Amino acid sequence: MNVTQKLLSVFKVDKQYRGLRSRLSAAEKFLAEQNKQIEQIDAKKASLDAQLRQLQAAGANFEGEMKRLDARMASIREQMDSAQTNKEYKAFLTEVNTIKAERDRQETSALEQMSKAEEIRRQLDELQKSRTERERVQAVATSERDQRAAEINDKLTDLKGQRESLAKDLPKDALQVFERLIQTRGDEAMAHIEEVDRKRHEYHCGACMMALPIEAVNGLLVSGKLTKCASCQCILYIEEELAKSMKEPAGKR
Ligand SMILES: [Zn+2]
Repeated sequence: MNVTQKLLSVFKVDKQYRGLRSRLSAAEKFLAEQNKQIEQIDAKKASLDAQLRQLQAAGANFEGEMKRLDARMASIREQMDSAQTNKEYKAFLTEVNTIKAERDRQETSALEQMSKAEEIRRQLDELQKSRTERERVQAVATSERDQRAAEINDKLTDLKGQRESLAKDLPKDALQVFERLIQTRGDEAMAHIEEVDRKRHEYHCGACMMALPIEAVNGLLVSGKLTKCASCQCILYIEEELAKSMKEPAGKR
């Protein structure tokens, strides 16, 4: 095998590896998304719980105050019964009315707290429902991720081994050029040559479609030396079938 053929073998193994890995990454990403949503639900729930506790405490205060006012009113009413003068009686009456008004305010506030608490409880119920639903999706996502990982683990290990032994057989500089291209271009690090017109020596790069000089095509055909597209910089190769037909004597075609 010449250097281009060797690079192509590494390229194909890499591509399979990336393809398998990306299927697993998609499952991992989906699972992470579910985990994140559950965390968000829990954070919201904690904040609602705190609000609910505050409302309950405030409500209890208002109710306590109402009880205190009730007791005070009862005691004034007792005193009214034994009022000695009309003036005294009227003074008690005024006080009772003031307390009554204050009690009404406390009651209104207590009811307000109760209805707010009711609303928070409703929201908490909703949250619990969406958490249950999210947990269900999370369970599916976890088993899918695990299943995919199990399916491809052996294959990934196998491809890694193949890649290592193929890479060992390549000149360091060629491998470096290739690896840099993989980082920038991924699956387009290498491209095949497309034949447009053999008689007119028209070939172009399979990645960027720019015309290639015939010398580059011949160099690849004869020695398989490392050849890059001058336009998009990808490493070029000739597909086996095309190479075979190009090597045939012109008369046989
Ligand atoms: Zn190109």
